[in-house]
Amino acid sequence: MAALVLVIEDEPAIRDSLVYVLTSEGFMVETAGTLADAGPHLGNMPALVVLDVGLPDGSGFNFFRELRRTTLVPVLFLTARASEIDRVVGLELGADDYVTKPFSPREVAARVKAILRRTHPIPPSVNPHPASQSVSTPLVIDDLRKVALLDGQIVTLSRQELRLLTVLASAPGQIFSRARLLDLAWDDPTATFDRTIDSHIKALRVALRVIRPHCDPIITVRGEGYAIVEVWT
Ligand code: CA
Repeated sequence: MAALVLVIEDEPAIRDSLVYVLTSEGFMVETAGTLADAGPHLGNMPALVVLDVGLPDGSGFNFFRELRRTTLVPVLFLTARASEIDRVVGLELGADDYVTKPFSPREVAARVKAILRRTHPIPPSVNPHPASQSVSTPLVIDDLRKVALLDGQIVTLSRQELRLLTVLASAPGQIFSRARLLDLAWDDPTATFDRTIDSHIKALRVALRVIRPHCDPIITVRGEGYAIVEVWT
């Protein structure tokens, strides 16, 4: 299926030229002329967002920050001024790339393709078990970016919770005792109590439910420890 690109740009001529060139490159394209218009399109899970910095109802920078709270969708900025370029280039924002106006639509299409080549597929989880890699899991631990993604959305976790989840997810179905979890996920196991693990597990469950309200992939095995399910339902 063709990748969906969302173009957020208020100047109709630029928008139309991008739609034309991206469509001819085989992408599906949706457009928005304002930030308010863009909101609903994000629900269609675009593979990439082309984002103008200056929009009638706000700055693309602020919109980008909002976006990053919930998704890692790649963003290509369209900038018009040197001051804007400085901010993007400084990677203060962690944008994927930018082009400056005036630009050739072909160049934008080439950048879009390059970003998608770079960012897809999402790096595989740290799961070392070849057998379970063939089972599709909605949970991905992205080691490079130090985040966990559930259904493609970032799970809001503390550093410690992320480490705990990473250990559990490294071997779905395997029961980890509290002592083993302390060893694997804590820097200083002797300074931590079993109860601490229980409260982190509780926090982990809550965080996962923010994205999947009824899920409980973490199994408590009484007297033994914890495991993460092999098959998500
Ligand atoms: Ca503009």
